[in-house]
Amino acid sequence: MADIQSTEKSRELFDRAARVVPGGVNSPVRAFRSVGGDPRFMVSGEGCRMTDADGNTYVDLVSSWGPLILGHAHPHVIDAVTAAAVKGTSFGTPTPGEVDLAEELVARTGVERVRMVNSGTEATMTALRLARAATGRTKIIKFAGCYHGHVDPLLAAAGSGVATLALPDSPGVVGTDETIVAPYNDIDSVAKIFAEHDGQIACVITEAAAGNMGVVAPRDGFNRKLAELCRANGALLILDEVMTGFRVSKNGWAGFSGDTADLFTYGKVMGGGLPAAAFGGRAELMDMLAPSGPVYQAGTLSGNPLACAAGLATLQLCDDDLYAKLDAVSQTLGEAAVAALTEAGVPHRLSRAGNMFSVFFTADDVSDFAGAQAQNVAAYRAFFHEMLAKGVYLPPSAYEAWFVSGALDDEAVAQIADALPYAARAAA
Ligand code: PLP
Repeated sequence: MADIQSTEKSRELFDRAARVVPGGVNSPVRAFRSVGGDPRFMVSGEGCRMTDADGNTYVDLVSSWGPLILGHAHPHVIDAVTAAAVKGTSFGTPTPGEVDLAEELVARTGVERVRMVNSGTEATMTALRLARAATGRTKIIKFAGCYHGHVDPLLAAAGSGVATLALPDSPGVVGTDETIVAPYNDIDSVAKIFAEHDGQIACVITEAAAGNMGVVAPRDGFNRKLAELCRANGALLILDEVMTGFRVSKNGWAGFSGDTADLFTYGKVMGGGLPAAAFGGRAELMDMLAPSGPVYQAGTLSGNPLACAAGLATLQLCDDDLYAKLDAVSQTLGEAAVAALTEAGVPHRLSRAGNMFSVFFTADDVSDFAGAQAQNVAAYRAFFHEMLAKGVYLPPSAYEAWFVSGALDDEAVAQIADALPYAARAAA
């Protein structure tokens, strides 16, 4: 197992970046702030591995934060993007590729209509707008530790980078006075909020399975009871499948669990590594969007031909065999992590939602944000750096999911398994 050598070129790039980009990165968690050390600047990827500017190669368990379910530079995806690119990168008109992708999304999920956007943030932002327009109400319920992008009213007690950096609700944000935050997995508190704000709640938004405080699956029946409470109170349920969509099954978490909702948001996997996201639901709701209806939403690059080609090519390979492989690999790696941490005497909890998983460095079960925040972040930091030194790239945050890809080969799995005992001892 080759340990990582010099990272000097990454350091130089980070210094240059810090002079022209706030914090040197274009998305906060990339900066390694909570784990310390210098971020690695990647220059290429192939399959389950990526290579940094100094020529060090890493087995990738971040998968671009979820999208790369097939691994890096999958030939089928690259061919589709190349074929699309030579025909033109953007037209600002409808194109056949976006119809193909929309049909694929509808066929997989059962939603009647989808509208394509460029990021998960746009998807949740517009789903909220639609829910407010449809109900004529303004208040929303979200859960502590869930992250739905950097949408103003959803940046309250948010997970992901906000949790990683232990930031307060962000300065500059307006509209969170209409946001009511509930503890995740606590259905009684949601019922209480509905009772206290009778006739005022437009919607409840929840990650279909939480992955932005580390992975915390919904308790059995939690999402179903949310749907029932919403129905009983004239509110809508938005199931945010940006992370889980097409990752945990052909039809995301809804397919995996049977959960239903009024509106769904998608992103990550459906763009195959290019910027594409979507939201969808029943025709009667979605047709409130302009130009069918009065609720405005638009995008210069929405439904971009390259992104649609990458997304469709990716989904074409998201079949039963792929999900069986992801489940098996995720099982193997989770068990290996547990064995190494147990052997080293490190308190830990493996937490799963389908093939997404993460390890909390705590002796207690984690079912909500408070539980996730009780973990020993310093232990994760030591664990992360030892894995990195052994050429395994984990999320540079204790509050993120580990994402496997279909490209993980036996050699990579062995490399991870070999590195884990060292990392576990470093965390002890
Ligand atoms: N919703 C969920 C569940 C997410 O995990 C994310 C991003 O991680 C988003 C929304 C926002 O997506 P994007 O980063 O594409 O804006």
